[in-house]
Amino acid sequence: MSSWRDNLIKTEPYVAGEQPKGGKFIKLNANENPYPPSPMVEKAIAGFRAAGLNKYPDANVAPLCEALAKRAGVDTDNVFAGNGSDEVLALAFRAFFNSELPVLFADVTYSFYPVWCENMGIRYECIPLDDAFNYKAEDYARPNGGVVICNPNAPTTIGRDLDFIRSVLDANRDSVVIVDEAYVDFGGVSSLPLLSEYDNLLVVQTFSKSRSMAGMRIGCAFGSKELIAALRAAKDSYNSYPLDSVAIAAGIASVSDESYFADTVGKITATRDRLTGALRDMGAELPDSSTNFVFARFPGHSAVDIYNALKTKGIYVRYFNKPRIDDRLRITIGTDEETDMLIENLRRILGNNC
Ligand code: PMP
Repeated sequence: MSSWRDNLIKTEPYVAGEQPKGGKFIKLNANENPYPPSPMVEKAIAGFRAAGLNKYPDANVAPLCEALAKRAGVDTDNVFAGNGSDEVLALAFRAFFNSELPVLFADVTYSFYPVWCENMGIRYECIPLDDAFNYKAEDYARPNGGVVICNPNAPTTIGRDLDFIRSVLDANRDSVVIVDEAYVDFGGVSSLPLLSEYDNLLVVQTFSKSRSMAGMRIGCAFGSKELIAALRAAKDSYNSYPLDSVAIAAGIASVSDESYFADTVGKITATRDRLTGALRDMGAELPDSSTNFVFARFPGHSAVDIYNALKTKGIYVRYFNKPRIDDRLRITIGTDEETDMLIENLRRILGNNC
């Protein structure tokens, strides 16, 4: 006899970094920004007129899309905004990946991509990165129903240049190519300049990392008018108003403050480069990072043991129990003080007092 239980969702969901509660801890496991958002965001929220909440927000988030369009040098019709880039990506998968052919993405990349495919019944193929975790453009020159490139890639931290993205686009004139730029502001190269040449390119960005607004849930995408119209159709088949009025006001305030944005990103990249040096001095191996995190292995030590030892000290980093990367830790760049605590504890754990 069948039961309602047989009909429950079977998808194995994406697992986000732990969100420990209470106590004092250092949280370096979700690639959050350790600094607050721009003071302009604080001001916009404090001055928000709650009386206006009786009305729905702008369905296409036009005021925020206008600000983003101006910054990127495109039209407002080339911009989409959603409730975090996770939602933007999910809607993009729904809107663009309706072919019988598999969608292609790397084997080591953002682990939400296969979850969306499973959830939406989209065929997909994971293409192995090379031994140094580099994408190879020729791997994406095969029949497919779409391509997703994460640039810089997570969790590998490695960024690729525009020649690479261009090669992927040239080999895929008949597929939509999504470039996920969640971490691009920390040293990656954005594909936004390629938008005028390729109407099948969608560039997805987020306010969660470089703009310190993970708690506000704002993501955006840039693409041809046709792609943006398809994204809006996907959105309107699901939830007409994904961004609330407070988020729209706060997002506009963030975009207006270029200097705070540049300062914060500069502080994080300086701390990242210092941490990279300290880790290498301890014997760790890691690629140069173009993101706000590092991805390190510790020869002679087990990554999960280090992860657990740090946790007992109240320091949370990310360990993935997955093939090819279970010998590594992904560590988010925190403040200088947090980074000093991390380095001190790692030296102790590794029995390395240099
Ligand atoms: N893409 C990548 C590569 C990410 O690491 C993340 C953060 N987990 C996201 C997209 C989604 O971020 P958000 O929904 O906060 O914009």
